[in-house]
Amino acid sequence: MAPGTDPKSALVVYNTLTRSKEKFVPMSGDEVKMFVCGQTVYDDAHLGHAKNYINFDVIVRWMRKIGYRVNYIQNITDVDDKIIARANEKGQDPIELARHFEKRFLEDMESIGVKEDVSEYIRSHDYIDAIRDQIQLLIDNGYAYRLDEDVYYNVAKFHDYNKLSGMDMKEIGRHRIEVRPGKVNDYDFVLWKGAKPGEPQWKIGLVLDGQKVELSGRPGWHIEDTAMTASVFGPQYDVHGGASELIFPHHTNEIAQAEAAYGKKPFVKYWLHSGVLNIKGQKMSKSLSNFVKIRDFLKSSDAETLRLIFCSRHFRKEIDYTDEVARSAAKKLRYIYASLSRFYNMPESENPQSAEVTALVESFRAQFTDAMNDDFNTSLALSGIITLVNSLRAFAEANSAVEKSVKDDAIRAIIEYAGVFGILTKETYKEAIPDEAYAMIKKREVLRKEKKFGESDEIRGQISEKFGIRIEDTEDGTVWYREGE
Ligand SMILES: [Zn+2]
Repeated sequence: MAPGTDPKSALVVYNTLTRSKEKFVPMSGDEVKMFVCGQTVYDDAHLGHAKNYINFDVIVRWMRKIGYRVNYIQNITDVDDKIIARANEKGQDPIELARHFEKRFLEDMESIGVKEDVSEYIRSHDYIDAIRDQIQLLIDNGYAYRLDEDVYYNVAKFHDYNKLSGMDMKEIGRHRIEVRPGKVNDYDFVLWKGAKPGEPQWKIGLVLDGQKVELSGRPGWHIEDTAMTASVFGPQYDVHGGASELIFPHHTNEIAQAEAAYGKKPFVKYWLHSGVLNIKGQKMSKSLSNFVKIRDFLKSSDAETLRLIFCSRHFRKEIDYTDEVARSAAKKLRYIYASLSRFYNMPESENPQSAEVTALVESFRAQFTDAMNDDFNTSLALSGIITLVNSLRAFAEANSAVEKSVKDDAIRAIIEYAGVFGILTKETYKEAIPDEAYAMIKKREVLRKEKKFGESDEIRGQISEKFGIRIEDTEDGTVWYREGE
C-alpha cells in the first residue's frame, strides 16, 4: 500500500458470487452490515465450528481496525429438525434443549474470544412475525405455493437460482431433494412446515388466492435467516459469511427468497465462505462422530493456540486437524513469547543502531496491512509477525541496548496487530529470565551445535531445577518458558 493511502479503501475481498477478487465498497459509507450463519443449538460446538467463527471474527476485527463500523449479526437457529430429533431422542422439550445448548455455545464463543465481537446474537424463535411477512410477500409475488399444510418455494420461477453455486439444475437434482406428490418441481424447498405432534408450533395468518387462512407449524431453515436479516438490515446488506458447505442449498435459497420477496439485487453484495476443518481427511462433523468439542480442546490447550492454528491458513482453505497441529502451534507461540521477552527485557539506552528496529517495524506494519487487505491473508500477515519477532531477537543478541521509545513502539505494533488474530494476549513476556539462566541457554545452544547432546541435556535439567524454566528446541530457535505457563 502506498504511504498515505487510507487502509480501508485498499481492502480487496474474494466474492463467491462473482468468483473474483473485488474492491470492498460497502453500500453505505464506512458502515458494514454483516451476517454470519450461526449455530444450530442441539449439541456442543466443536473445532469445525470454532474455525468458522474465529475466521469471521478475525475478518471483523480487521475491518474495524482499518476504520469500518461493522454491525456484525449472528443468528442462533433454535427452531430446526435436528433440535426436534435430538429432543425426541432424549425425551426433552425442544425449546428447553435449544436454550441449554445456546447457553453452552455462548460460553464457548466467549472462551475463544469471539462473543465480544458479535454485535448481537438473534434467535429464529423471536422472528416468527417477520418470517410470516416474508412468506406472504413470496406468495403475493408468485414464488410460493401451498401444499397441504406446508408452503413451498417454486424454484423454477427464480431465474438466477444457480448464480451463487454455479451448479446447473442437473447437478442440483443429484443433491438431496424431497420427492413429494404435489410439488411443482422436485427441487422446490419448504418455507413453512405444517404442525406435527411433539414439535414446537406457531400459528400464522396468510392470504392465499384472496382467502385468509391460518397455518400451524414452524418455519423452514432458509427463511429464518432472510426474515431475520430483512428485519435487522433491510432487504440488502454488505457481507454474508458462512462455511463453504452452506453455499448450496442454504445460501442459494436465501438469495432466491430475499430477491424474490423484495425485488432488490443483490441481496448481499459480498459472499465470504470459510473452508471446513477436516480430521483424517474427513470433515469434522456431528454426523461422522469424529469431532473434538471446543470445551474439551480447551481442557488441555488454550484459545490462543486455536486461534494461531486458524490464522496460519487462509480462511477459505480447509485445514487438516491433528494433535500434532495443536502441539506445533503451541510451540510456535512459546517461541514468539520467548523471543519477545528477550527483546522486551533488553537494557534501554541511546543506541544509534535502534534505527534498524524502527525500519523493521515500519515495514512490518505496511506488510501486515497489505496482507490483510488482500482478502484477509492471515497466513502471510502471521509470517510477518514471526519474521519481525525473529529480527528483534537477533537484534537483542547483537546489541547491548535499545532506545526506549523504539522498543516501546515495536512492542506496541506487535501486540496491536497480533490482537487482530487474538494472540499474544498474555503479558508473560514482560518478565525477564535471570541473566545466569540466559547465559546457560546460550551455552547449551553452542553445545547442541557441537552435537554434545549429553551435556546440553544436563544444562537443560539444571535450568529447570534452579530457575523453574523449561527449555524446548524448535525449528526457529530455543524457547524458554516458566513451568506452568
Ligand atoms: Zn444461515
